[in-house]
Amino acid sequence: MVQALEAIELSKTYNGDVEALKNLNLQIKKGESIGYLGPNGAGKTTTIQIFLNLIRPTKGEVFIFGEQMLGQERKVLRDVGALVEIPGFYDYLTPHETLKHICKVYRVPNQELNHRIKEVLETVRIDEVEHKKIGTFSTGMKRRLAIAQTLVHNPELLILDEPTLGLDPRGVREIRDLIKDLNKEGKTVFLTSHNLNEVSEISDRVIFLKTGEVIQDELMSNLQERLSSRSIDVKFLEPLSSAQEESIFSIKCVTKVSFGKTSIIEYEGKIDDTHNILQGLFDNELPVYSFTVHSKLYNHVLICTFYST
Ligand code: ATP
Repeated sequence: MVQALEAIELSKTYNGDVEALKNLNLQIKKGESIGYLGPNGAGKTTTIQIFLNLIRPTKGEVFIFGEQMLGQERKVLRDVGALVEIPGFYDYLTPHETLKHICKVYRVPNQELNHRIKEVLETVRIDEVEHKKIGTFSTGMKRRLAIAQTLVHNPELLILDEPTLGLDPRGVREIRDLIKDLNKEGKTVFLTSHNLNEVSEISDRVIFLKTGEVIQDELMSNLQERLSSRSIDVKFLEPLSSAQEESIFSIKCVTKVSFGKTSIIEYEGKIDDTHNILQGLFDNELPVYSFTVHSKLYNHVLICTFYST
């Protein structure tokens, strides 16, 4: 089956001695959403720059939808929507005017221009400001416009280098939701990040890179499952009666409970079972006011340990 993106034995050495990538092999299926994760200097940007023909590898090959892409700048432009560095915009232009220029670069036919611009602005949900000056926009709106630029030629593959960098929590949430929607619509997404939390929300597969080598390549669902510690911290509004305490053991999956100021419920099963446990606590009319599922996935200290394995 043809892969959306394939890297074969890709290596890049800068200045004869900085080995940024070492025999990198990647296979990304159509429709997948990949989180490409690694600390500073791991080689993420180098990988993306090679994919986009911005730099040449020292060795190796890149295929996009089955076509060899090295040296094929036009084909890359045609097939890929890329956000590599956050673009600057002219404050005195409107999104419509900005995207018109981009459409020309991508050779969108003149008769389709207006329709196409409207469509992508609707997709990134800033269509109501199509004719307003960009100078009045928030950082989040500008980021949406940056993503709109990657979509004007309706590419099947999106390569996004840290698309939420520098946004406030609301902006981060909006861009993550937007990327998830684009993937649901069928676009293949290859996204770089430093943040496993972000990748776990957006991506269905995570690839960890360290000093130019893949150290882990795993489905997000497996990783979440493996790193789930299967314990839940629960706080109750008031101390429980013995009957109430006993009732917790009747909830499916619960194996052990330690009662205290914060009670700890241990369970066997999948991370999704925590929903049933919470439901069970409510069904037993227990006065829950806080319910925290432990997950090593979101523990950044452990992520560092991860990198050192
Ligand atoms: P970051 O998260 O900080 O952006 P990264 O994972 O994208 O890091 P790269 O920027 O690809 O990593 O860098 C990988 C290695 O290659 C680093 O050691 C970096 O110093 C080196 N490097 C990158 N670009 C060049 C260059 N133009 N000349 C020399 N060395 C470079």
